[in-house]
Amino acid sequence: MDLSGKHALITGGGTGIGLAIARDLEAKGAHVTITGRRQEVLDEVAGPNMTGMAMDVRDEADVVAKIAAAVEKYGPIQICIPNAGIAEGKAVHKTSMEFWRNMMATNLDGAFLTIRESLTSMRQTDWGRVVAISSMAGLRGLPGAACYAASKHGMIGLIRSLSEDYIGQPFTFNSICPGYVDTPIVDRNTTSIAQRAGVSEEQARGMMVKANRHQRLIAPEEVATAAAWLIGPGSESVNGQSIEIAGGQM
Ligand code: NDP
Repeated sequence: MDLSGKHALITGGGTGIGLAIARDLEAKGAHVTITGRRQEVLDEVAGPNMTGMAMDVRDEADVVAKIAAAVEKYGPIQICIPNAGIAEGKAVHKTSMEFWRNMMATNLDGAFLTIRESLTSMRQTDWGRVVAISSMAGLRGLPGAACYAASKHGMIGLIRSLSEDYIGQPFTFNSICPGYVDTPIVDRNTTSIAQRAGVSEEQARGMMVKANRHQRLIAPEEVATAAAWLIGPGSESVNGQSIEIAGGQM
């Protein structure tokens, strides 16, 4: 697959799943813009064809200004990967409005703003791919994490609707729904799951491993492989889909 001349935007591209996708698309020839809140994290992984740009996906003005600047420098965004996200479980009866709004602002508003601003440039070209990183929690309920699941369901609704809006045009919109992937999010969640379930951190990690039907954590590169397939030649007819990567049905 040759993505030379293509500009890819990956939110949350400095770590975990986003970084695995960024490295893969860079190796395939694209210029990749990665974003996140921490410029120093982005600088550590950036290279000649990978640019790190601090951008908070919750902040509309920041997203509008930064994506415009990236387009100005590297051309229209033709590959858009809304991936930035937070994951934290909390019982609904203990959930504050602030917690709910921050989850929605990051996971759902962030995806909406990133796609909206990227589409402006994508629509001026004759090819584009949007691959949103949702979750298995976007397809079914996740015990103890209703707010996270609601935000991820929202992403899938957005993507499915966009695939209908642009039907017959040279753009596709798909979601990837991973099970538990070996990234910093899982490391952070180990502690909160242990506290909620009243188990040790080792047991909490074991619970996540067992939730994946093949009984192991998924490598970020496995998600990147699926993203590359959705971007590359041969998958043009795959549109509005939610691809599960969880070692089986959860
Ligand atoms: P990471 O924590 O490594 O990635 C999350 C990324 O999002 C970070 O790079 C972070 O950068 C960025 N981010 C968070 N908040 C913001 C914000 N307000 N503005 C901009 N960037 C932000 O974990 P993963 O790689 O696992 O997560 C990537 C995506 O995959 C998430 O959407 C997650 O929900 C999804 N996912 C993960 C699964 C897993 O088991 N790991 C399973 C299913 C889905 P920074 O902190 O610098 O802002």
